[in-house]
Formats: sequence, C-alpha cells, structure tokens
Amino acid sequence: QQSAAFSKPSDANLRSPICCIMGHVDTGKTKLLDCIRGTNVQEGEAGGITQQIGATYFPAENIRDRTKELKADATLKVPGLLVIDTPGHESFNNLRSRGSGLCDIAILVVDIMHGLEPQTKESLDLLKMRNTEFIVALNKVDRLYGWKTCRNAPIRKAMLQQSKDVQNEFNMRLDQIVTEFKEQGLNTALYYKNKEMGETFSIVPTSAISGEGIPDMLLLLVQWTQKTMIEKLTYSDEVQCTVLEVKVIEGHGTTIDVVLVNGVLHEGDQIVVAGMQGPIVTSIRALLTPHPMKELRVKGSYIHHKEIKAAMGIKITAQGLEHAIAGASLYVVKPDDDLEHIKTAALEDVESVLSRIDRSGEGVCVQASTLGSLEALLEFLKTPAVNIPVSAISIGPVHKKDVMKASVMLEKKREYSTILAFDVKVTPEARELADELGVKIFIADIIYHLFDQFKAYMENIKDEKKKESADEAVFPCVLKILPNCVFNKKDPIVLGVDILEGILKIGTPICIPSQDFIDIGRIASIENNHKPVDYAKKGQKVAIKIVGSNSEEQQKMFGRHFEIDDELVSHISRRSIDVLKSDYRDELSNEEWKLVVKLKSLFKIQ
Ligand code: GDP
Repeated sequence: QQSAAFSKPSDANLRSPICCIMGHVDTGKTKLLDCIRGTNVQEGEAGGITQQIGATYFPAENIRDRTKELKADATLKVPGLLVIDTPGHESFNNLRSRGSGLCDIAILVVDIMHGLEPQTKESLDLLKMRNTEFIVALNKVDRLYGWKTCRNAPIRKAMLQQSKDVQNEFNMRLDQIVTEFKEQGLNTALYYKNKEMGETFSIVPTSAISGEGIPDMLLLLVQWTQKTMIEKLTYSDEVQCTVLEVKVIEGHGTTIDVVLVNGVLHEGDQIVVAGMQGPIVTSIRALLTPHPMKELRVKGSYIHHKEIKAAMGIKITAQGLEHAIAGASLYVVKPDDDLEHIKTAALEDVESVLSRIDRSGEGVCVQASTLGSLEALLEFLKTPAVNIPVSAISIGPVHKKDVMKASVMLEKKREYSTILAFDVKVTPEARELADELGVKIFIADIIYHLFDQFKAYMENIKDEKKKESADEAVFPCVLKILPNCVFNKKDPIVLGVDILEGILKIGTPICIPSQDFIDIGRIASIENNHKPVDYAKKGQKVAIKIVGSNSEEQQKMFGRHFEIDDELVSHISRRSIDVLKSDYRDELSNEEWKLVVKLKSLFKIQ
C-alpha cells in the first residue's frame, strides 16, 4: 500500500526544502521542533504533519494554515518542509550530500537572554564553511520581563500587545545580539526590517513555549528557500540521497536510514553505498516510513512503498548493508549506468576523509558516528591550536577490534593509545579490554569536549612523566662563587653564588669543569634573601647548599678540590638533555636552550 501524500508532485515541480536546527545547548532547539510539530491541537489532528525516518514533514497545507494571519497564502510553491529531527545534534549537522550541506537551510537558535554562546559560534563556522543559508530564531521572547502571552501569534501582532518597557528591553537585547553577530562578521536584522535578504541574515523572534513568532519562522523558511533556491529545489530524476544511520532492526536485519534529498527511489532499485570494506552493491528490498498516525504506530510497524519521491526520510532494507557508512551518499544504478564508475564515485566520497590519517603511524584513534562527523572531527584535530595526530579512524560503535588497534600505540607512544569516540557507543567488551590493556577511551557528543578531555589527560601524563624524570632532568646553569661567602667548605658545601647564566634548580648535579669535571654533589637547597626558594635565575645572587650523593662526592672540599675562581656548572648528559627536550621543553627560554648547547660542547656530548 502506498500513501498518496508521499508521492504527490507539487505544481511547480519543486521538492520540499530540508531544514535543520542548530545552536547552543538549552537555547530551545528541541522545544522549537516540538512547538512547530504540535499544531492544530484544537482540531485534534496533526494537520498533515508526518513523522518520517529522522525527519518531520510539514505539508504546505499545514504551513498555509498556520501562517494565514500573515496573509501569504498564494506564495507557497514548495510541497512542504522537511525538518531533520535531531536538533543540534552535531553529527547530523555535519551531514553532507555530495560535498555540500545536506540541509538547504538552517534555523540557528539564539536565546534572547544569553546572546551568542560558544556553540552558536561553532554552528556559525559550520554554516559558513558549508555555505548554508540560515535564519536566526531569537528564542524565549516570553522571558522578557512582563511579556504578555499571545499564543501562536505572528511576532509583530504579539509585539504590539507589549508594554513600552517590554518593547524597550526587546530592542536593547536585539541591538546587543546584532552587534555580537557583527563581531562574527555577519550582518543581521529583524526579518521584517531586512531590506537586503541574502546579504543580511534575518532574525525571527520566537517563543517555543507560547508560539509567538512561529508562523513568521515557518513562512520565512519556505519563502526564502523557494525564492532563492529554485534550481536546487527543482525536482530532478537524479537521485541525491545521504545515509543518516545504519541500524539493525528486528525482522529486517541491517537497515539504513536515509534522507532522499532529490529524485525518486523504487523498490528493487540497484543501489551502491560506500562501506568500510569497499563499495556495497545491493538492491532495495523495501522502502519504509513510519505509520503516520501515532496511535496506530506499533513498534516495528512501517508503511511499505513501491516508490518514494524526494524530499523524504526513509528506511531502506537490503542485503549486505552491515558495513555501510553513515554519512555516505547512496547511488542508484540505472540501466545505462556504468556500475564500476558509480562504485568509484561512492568510494571517492569516503576516501577524501579516510586519507587524512597520519602516515607516520603515530597518533590517536578516532571514531565517529558518521562520515560527516568524522570529517569535522579530523578537521578540528588538525587545526594548529589543537594539533593532535591521528593514526586510525573508524565509523560506528567502538568494538574490541578497535581497542586492539589502539593498543598498538602503547609501545610507541603511550598517550596516543587513546580512542576519541565522537557520538558513538562503546561496547561493554571493548570497555573491559581497554581497561585491561590500558587503552584510554574518551567519549563525547560535542567535539571540543573530546579535545578538553584529551588535553587534560595529556597534561596529566606530562606531569607524571615530569615527576618520574625529575631526577634525570638537569637544568643548565653556570655559577660564580662570591668572595667571602664560603660558609661551609665540605659536606655539605654552603656557598654564596652569582648565577652567571641559566637557571639554578634544587636537585641539579654540580661539577667543576676546570678540575677534570669533578662532581661535588647536588643542590640541596637555595636561599634568596634568607628565604628558601625552589629555583633562581640568571643575575640573582643566592646561597646554596650542595650535598654529596656518594662518599666520593662527600669528600670534595672547597680550598682543596676547587677554588674561589672555579666556575660551578650543571653536570649534563645525553640522557638529561633528552629528558629536558621531551618533558620540559616549554620550561626553558631560548637563552637557556643556548646554554644547554654550550654545555653540551663543553662536556663533549655527541
Ligand atoms: P536545547 O538544548 O536547545 O534543545 O533546549 P531545550 O529545547 O531542551 O530547552 C531548554 C530549556 O529551555 C527547557 O527547559 C525549555 O523548556 C526552555 N525553553 C525552550 N524554549 C523556550 C522558550 O521559548 N521560552 C521559555 N521560557 N523557555 C524555553
């Protein structure tokens, strides 16, 4: 059986625009989606809204009905609007369709009480990068002090009902937020005052709780897309389709959830999808969508379709989908098509991402839910401020085999024996094995949280390593004994010194280069102006106590083994230089590194 609504072509032969909702956490993305879904309650029906796979479909009639107060009736040309169901979900925002964003337009939600927040800016970066159109929903207007509720009213009508104080506060906050956008290099304006749509992004004030501004938002989305994207939205026979998720469904085996962006899919079509082990060639066994009536929806009950026309969220069942890659494109093989050619195209999408791993073989393992999110994560890890090398990548849940792969790094570089898991699950067996082997797994569904966790972990390891190697790290210094400041000649030797060069630290082994490099002990304490300190730098005059580490050193004596004119220097070695380089690189200034080089030649270290 087949529902007519799904394949009814629109008059102008346009497909529905696809829209996603982005923005900082808690700005009201979920609520906004709920609010636009929960329509026509008074009539007790869903107004034609249908739940699809991964998306919600709003037919034109529904939008027309909800926006009638705005008197824009005649202008609706698209058959409806398809809104992706996972608001703010980073890996879905990263979905692509043949190189450009999957979505035709985005709603960027900003909380009017908070303005631009960190993830708002991240979303903006993504939108700019993908060249995606967007409108700003300036949400939570009902929180303005003294706001008078005008349920589901167009925003200008609602605004007229407000007191001067509310209007003033609104204008003040709006101005502030427009300034914040400006700082991000974007012009924005209240949509009904926006004279240069296209150059200036439109702001629609909304409340996801009481519905003010929602009609405006819906209308703007539809009008704007059908006005500026006619070509993109014109229905085409060429299938454009992206895999959202790969899922095992009882009774159906492994299925793929897809968004059909353009074209038409038929039962029995031969398709090609990129897989982790190469391109998968198979045929569509069934095209499924959920039952439109919620009450009738039994778990696992779907409507079967002979064919489905874009834009639509669909579940596809077919054989051999186990290794399909979420985020990859789906291709249809037509009778005249060259299958090999299509297989190559399917692989190319994936290879551009897979080829980004570090060829040196040293780096962390990265795992993400979709190709798009993997790509975003890899892009992020590459930025100079982050700069984390990646040695292996995978898509989908973390399994034991992934932990095994990460454990290879244990030998080479312990801190890289890590899996950064972005928006994927970790199987209990994998977790157990990781604990056993000492492989670290970090999970997050926001990219920069992964980075924060990994950074903290790296710092921790660095500190630990520093502690372990503290005895072996020798900081470079050259000391001159001050006249009349020899307080104790032998074990412990106590002297006043002038630090001629470098940095003097507790623990540093000291020797006398001019007397055959005899070792006289390690710095046990330093006093600056009678106060104990851990270190002192070039130019300072301090008192030091040197304690012999063995009986030989304990014998060394001022006046016999060294004199007032002998310089004291740090006794460095190949090993101590290596430790400094690997664990203390940032703690030495350029000048101090130069001194290391000088001492290196003094000690004739290769
Ligand atoms: P998300 O993290 O962006 O998806 O945000 P949610 O939709 O979960 O909303 C976060 C919180 O803000 C919830 O407590 C919502 O009830 C509340 N909220 C969302 N939209 C509005 C709004 O327009 N007005 C008010 N007063 N509260 C809102």
